Amino acid sequence: MSTRGASLLVWTLIDVRERHLRLIRLLRELRGPASPAGREFLRAAGTLVERDLRQFEEQLSRVLSGADSEDPDAWSSQFRGTVVNLARQRFAKLALTQQELYPYLPLDRRPSADIWYFTARRFAMSANLESHRKRIAISFGRFSEWTSRVFQSETQAVTMIPIPLIETATPLRWPLLVHELAHWLLPGGASLAEVARPKLEGALGEHHLSTRSEATFAELFADQVAYRSCGPAYAYALASEAAVSIGGAHHATGALAPDLVTRLKALGPKVETWVSELPSEWFIGVTEKVPRLAEISAVVSELLERFRPSAVRDEVVKIATTALRAGQSISAVRTAAPLNEEDYRSLVSGADELKQAEFFRRAAEEPCTDAEILLAAWMCETDFTATEQVKRVRTAVAHEGLSLETLNNLARFDVTVSRSLQAAYVHSMLRRWDPKIRDNLGLAPWRPVGSAVI
Ligand SMILES: [Zn+2]
Repeated sequence: MSTRGASLLVWTLIDVRERHLRLIRLLRELRGPASPAGREFLRAAGTLVERDLRQFEEQLSRVLSGADSEDPDAWSSQFRGTVVNLARQRFAKLALTQQELYPYLPLDRRPSADIWYFTARRFAMSANLESHRKRIAISFGRFSEWTSRVFQSETQAVTMIPIPLIETATPLRWPLLVHELAHWLLPGGASLAEVARPKLEGALGEHHLSTRSEATFAELFADQVAYRSCGPAYAYALASEAAVSIGGAHHATGALAPDLVTRLKALGPKVETWVSELPSEWFIGVTEKVPRLAEISAVVSELLERFRPSAVRDEVVKIATTALRAGQSISAVRTAAPLNEEDYRSLVSGADELKQAEFFRRAAEEPCTDAEILLAAWMCETDFTATEQVKRVRTAVAHEGLSLETLNNLARFDVTVSRSLQAAYVHSMLRRWDPKIRDNLGLAPWRPVGSAVI
């Protein structure tokens, strides 16, 4: 009997259900500005997805009542396989529905600007610089796979990322955008190939890089950038894509790339332990030895030497998780412990400048990092025991028909997370703009990162 990651295994079912709900919500949102005929079509499209969802829920009830144990930790491997297969089949069906509806959707606008800002700042690029704005174009994507392309004009290269339509609705998956960008650019915006290729050829002693080495480097590099930029939330986003995708990876062209377990383990020792606890059913195929993995990883680390990992403070994540779970957006936390009398005296006397600076830093509230908010959001999704997850699934499918409340609850969560990301960023910027606060906190003045890049 395997108990590995039973809670996440059951969560996969919730995840697939939520993806249905998000598509239904997006179709409803599009109705507002649509023409009368467009509105009618969107209503019909919504009914179609709702029917898919109902079918899925019926199957879910049947499958769960046939479980070979009340306790998911004691499920047989055969039953675990049934659960993951159901999730995959329904995800594939949903992906197909999205693909079929897509050409008829009135998508004459861009995805929300939040998504662009998030991607750019997580990639050390600036929304204020025209040269940066022109380099990344994010559009709605018809397919459910994550992909990207670069197009070269006479003056510059433009990276195009079609974000799968459903995933525009939730910041949980946005770290995957950073991965896509890192297939083409170095953080800050320089062209990746120009810098990386000679280094890689030198390190591997290959005059012409083998396609295998190239594919390995491309994925390891993009993974490492997204991980440093978005923290463990990226590992969650990537692994959960593997869980529902029949191909087992997020790229259609990833045949030569390392398998997902190898990629996740390459993120670092912390993720390595975490991966060993994930449900093995999430990953298709065997983990195989990737040639020259160590040398390629070394080149990745060297290239990213100056791209430091984003802070992820445990206590901040804990506070943020509690807030998000209660439906409150959170952008900053005060982590200071109450002062005792002695500390208070030394503070007012000004005798200890270091202590004073530290006090000021805490009293001013620390903005949460994007990585902390995103991890807190993932905790809200997944931090339940296996039995609790089953209860969540049962409660979700117990209601007859789709209620507006169900849709609203999920929408509220998505909006709360994205509002937290925005507010935290504004907060950190304001601190840098106010010279008094900046001096007290010892912060560097704000400067657009990578401004030298054209
Ligand atoms: Zn990739």
